[in-house]
Amino acid sequence: MFDAMTDIQETELVPGAPVRLPGYAGLPSAPDGLAIFLDVDGTLLDIAPRPDAIVVPDRLLEDLRLLAARTGGALALVSGRNLALLKRLFPDLPCSLAGLHGVEIEFPDGTSFAIPRSDELDAAVRDLVLAAAQWPGVVVEDKGAAFAAHYRLAPDFASAVEARMVKIAEKLGDKAIVQRGKSVVEIRPSGHDKGTALKALMTSPPFAGRQPLAIGDDLTDEAMFEAANGLDGLSVRVGEPRATLARLAVSTPADVRSWIRSLVR
Ligand SMILES: [Mg+2]
Repeated sequence: MFDAMTDIQETELVPGAPVRLPGYAGLPSAPDGLAIFLDVDGTLLDIAPRPDAIVVPDRLLEDLRLLAARTGGALALVSGRNLALLKRLFPDLPCSLAGLHGVEIEFPDGTSFAIPRSDELDAAVRDLVLAAAQWPGVVVEDKGAAFAAHYRLAPDFASAVEARMVKIAEKLGDKAIVQRGKSVVEIRPSGHDKGTALKALMTSPPFAGRQPLAIGDDLTDEAMFEAANGLDGLSVRVGEPRATLARLAVSTPADVRSWIRSLVR
């Protein structure tokens, strides 16, 4: 079931009507009893023109530290970034981490789960780097067990990027899936997604027994919304209206940051 969810497409989403109120109204007004799962790019942080150009404001980092304390550590960042980069972006944040859309997880006890890089993946990345040499402005991001081609700066190459990534994934067979996102096509190991990560974290303290609340902005977050909904939790989509499984919506990452601040200040 969750393997099928890993390649969720926009057209497969039932057009929903998440509740959207001004600002962050409609979101819980206190963190008590919640287990909070936050996507990073486009949710906590505004999307940058290049994937390496994002900045984490000190104020947000401090608010997240307070939020981790207020939730008894039942806080997780669930991102397409890898664990190493998440740790650099959010240094010493006492929370759990899920990287590469759920392929890597660092649990509250410090243990982690990851899939090693394979020779086939090395060859696939080389294939993409060679192809991208023909596409000025397309940024290849090598994340370890996954890799991505970003065309935000070169939208004319969107279909060429898409076609090449599908071809590369075909060579990798059923071990890999293609993940589409905002101006990005990614290839990552199959069998794991943000929904499986949320469910894995929810099985043990300090998450177990709390109500999951998942917030995200992109297609890859839909698996996390489905998992949270299935556990009687809350799901919040950030961004302009679009078909989604989320039950609540806010407009911008600034709304999410203001909501976090309201919980901890
Ligand atoms: Mg995002």
